[in-house]
Amino acid sequence: MQVIRKIDELRRVLEKYRRAGQRIGLVPTMGYFHEGHLSLIDAARKQAEIVVVSLFVNPTQFGPNEDLDRYPRDFERDERLARERHTDILFYPDVAEMYPDSFYTYVITEKLSRVLCGKSRPIHFRGVTTIVAKLFNIVQPDVAVFGRKDAQQAIIIRKMVRDLNFPVRIIVAPIVREADGLAMSSRNRYLTETERQQAPVIFRALQEAADLVKEGERDAIRIKDRIRRKIETAPLAKIEYIEIISPDNLSAVSTIDQKGVFAAVAVWFGKTRLIDNMVLLA
Ligand code: AMP
Repeated sequence: MQVIRKIDELRRVLEKYRRAGQRIGLVPTMGYFHEGHLSLIDAARKQAEIVVVSLFVNPTQFGPNEDLDRYPRDFERDERLARERHTDILFYPDVAEMYPDSFYTYVITEKLSRVLCGKSRPIHFRGVTTIVAKLFNIVQPDVAVFGRKDAQQAIIIRKMVRDLNFPVRIIVAPIVREADGLAMSSRNRYLTETERQQAPVIFRALQEAADLVKEGERDAIRIKDRIRRKIETAPLAKIEYIEIISPDNLSAVSTIDQKGVFAAVAVWFGKTRLIDNMVLLA
């Protein structure tokens, strides 16, 4: 595995592979790897001969009072894990490489970036689409892999790719969970022991919702209510939102009558904000 820190060098190396007819797969990450990230590397490997993992804690997707400074980082561990998973290139630029002085150009996916997580994080998705667009232009991958854990992000990126005609195929890989159901996240390490014990209530609430739909319930208000009551059994949980969402345009639905409709939640445990989602009608 090669660790590359400069855009020019990455372009030079990738050009050789591309000329040799090898397909390039990209997995964008902010590091502090867990099995969720590593499953994306495996998914990319199935579609491409050369797998590029980018590791960059992207400052433009953090709001002023968010956790940019304390976001967990451990490059040596990430390097080892990426290598063990047969990554070909780990792209690890510094902030000045990605955002030189006088950086003025942003990519904004209107509407979709303002709902759900966008309500409390108004500049978040602008940062995500901008950095992903930059990575697509730098790497020019044939395929890029994202996690379903961040369902809104994946839908916004698909939309950006379609709207701006990026020649890349997007793959969305399933959510990887801990044994007790908690969706893996680099941010889980912020949780205190008691918060960590209570956090799987999110998964159980989503499962109950999916079960209700299987039993024939189609009313979004009743399903949201069930999710809320379940999450509220955890004394430390503070709900930010619970929504039943159409995968087409991220709008809230009142009736579950379309394939792919999913429940999406954001829940705070102390200072930690957790998100999760589950498809209700497959
Ligand atoms: P992050 O480093 O948190 O920005 O995540 C990088 C990529 O990994 C994103 O596409 C995420 O959606 C994906 N990801 C994060 N956690 C999980 C998970 N538990 N299961 C699957 N994919 C994940």
